[in-house]
Amino acid sequence: MTSRIGEPIRNMVIVGGGTAGWMTAAAMARMASTELSVTLIESEEIGTVGVGEATIPPLMDFNGLLGIDENEFVRETQATFKLGIEFVNWGREGDRYIHPFGVYGKNVHGVKFHNVWLRDRQLAGQPVEPDQIGDYCLSVVAARGGRFMRPTTSDPNAVLSSLRYAFHFDAGLYARYLRKYADQGGIKRVEGRIEHVDQDGETGFITGVKLSDGRTISGDFFVDCSGFRSMLLGDKLGVPFRSWQHWLPCDRAFAVPCAGTANPTPYTRATAGTAGWRWRIPLQHRIGNGHVFSSAHIDEERAVSELLDGLDGPPTAEPRLLRFTAGRRERSWEKNCVAIGLSGGFLEPLESTSIHLIQSGIFKLMGLFPDQGFDQVEIDKYNSFLTEEYDRIRDFIILHYYATERTDSDFWNDCRTMNIPDTLAEKIAIWSGKARVFREPLDLFTEDSWIAVLLGQRIVPQSYDPLVRGFDIDESKRFLTSTRDIIGKTAHAMPTHEQFLARHCRAQPIDARPVNATAPV
Ligand code: FAD
Repeated sequence: MTSRIGEPIRNMVIVGGGTAGWMTAAAMARMASTELSVTLIESEEIGTVGVGEATIPPLMDFNGLLGIDENEFVRETQATFKLGIEFVNWGREGDRYIHPFGVYGKNVHGVKFHNVWLRDRQLAGQPVEPDQIGDYCLSVVAARGGRFMRPTTSDPNAVLSSLRYAFHFDAGLYARYLRKYADQGGIKRVEGRIEHVDQDGETGFITGVKLSDGRTISGDFFVDCSGFRSMLLGDKLGVPFRSWQHWLPCDRAFAVPCAGTANPTPYTRATAGTAGWRWRIPLQHRIGNGHVFSSAHIDEERAVSELLDGLDGPPTAEPRLLRFTAGRRERSWEKNCVAIGLSGGFLEPLESTSIHLIQSGIFKLMGLFPDQGFDQVEIDKYNSFLTEEYDRIRDFIILHYYATERTDSDFWNDCRTMNIPDTLAEKIAIWSGKARVFREPLDLFTEDSWIAVLLGQRIVPQSYDPLVRGFDIDESKRFLTSTRDIIGKTAHAMPTHEQFLARHCRAQPIDARPVNATAPV
């Protein structure tokens, strides 16, 4: 076959119109040249998973790419702001800590702040309790007080510049918002159910998809956003799925909304139960709730009743069951098909990483956008980026289950005693000595994120960075006190989350039920 390097892609087909499909379509609407025709196919009859409401700060880069006005976006999606995640009952029953998006204190002569703090605790003979270090993080103190404002950008030394945030939004409204954006950007939408995928007999490349009404949509590049079905990458091209269920046993979730509250918390809550955990995501018009659980450890009836018992108010729809397996496809890109979203892999929503993985897949695709040559070296690069990113997030999520002292159920006993990946074991070992934590290349989570969960779940290191011994003890104490005071005062001066929403981005009241409560897979 002659090389087709340099010949541009003419027809790109996005299969699926969930969050992954519409995010990809919106990005293409912004970035694609006029020579490229982009078609998205979706089936209302099949529907979307319709969950995915908590995000992390990099989403702002995606909004930035699209040139979205943030206040309009918040109003249109009934969004609220998120400063982190509160974990309840994870290390021990009764424990509570916040994994914030911001940073702890300020580093001293290149030594990370937590070392100074740990020495102070040790010298004072004080135990290290989950969330104590949170007093030195503006995002934590603001979250505890229900306060929010955007960070200042004018003075990088101001404490307020350290605030980072993300959003909680209505997944259905988000897809609708992106669809409008993509429509305006010239993306064609086709409604129909795909029944067959055509392949070139010689190369195995996908050439088109056949709909149930007989139409064929042809293309030279396909993005598989078909959700858990993975119609193109998994079913047709046969890229195997690597299951991580032995590390992440949760394989089901019930999701249910309930009425909202007057001052929505500016954080997600993840409360550990007997065989999984419950999420609570406050939006402007309702609260999204769910129970992620291991079907090997709890039956569905009990799982749903644990969920309903923990709601803030009466449910406003029937609980919906979703089934999944944690893991990823061995490769995200094969031949002329790249999988974005659930078709490429799934990690449970404990750290709200799925939408980020969609965005990351899109950005990397933009960086390695193919031509008709489909250069294998570039495809391999894409796959190695995605693999590394997935694996690092996987380790971080496993940490939450493994770092527990809970002995009250088989589920926690199994999690506490499991064999963890070597990469995570090494991370914990390095931390456990001198409180060292290093961010691996392509690790989404910063050192501060690891510190939050390690300390929050009671993995207290034996010692701290030896360089701290060179710091004057009294001066360190004064530094810690003034850091805590400034953070406390700054948080206190911030408006409440509710006041901020009312002032800048109050959404119109709408029906509190999810807009796309479609059948789960
Ligand atoms: P889907 O939403 O399933 O969309 C698939 C699309 O493909 C649909 O449009 C469907 O109609 C179409 N399709 C499928 N088959 C065909 C066919 N034969 N013909 C035509 N069209 C077809 N992520 C977060 O970031 N934060 C969270 O808080 C979060 N919470 C979650 C909670 C749970 C319980 C689960 C399961 C996931 C959660 N996620 C979360 C993940 C998030 O929901 C997904 O990453 C996101 O919705 C993307 O889904 P998708 O677009 O890949 O798939």
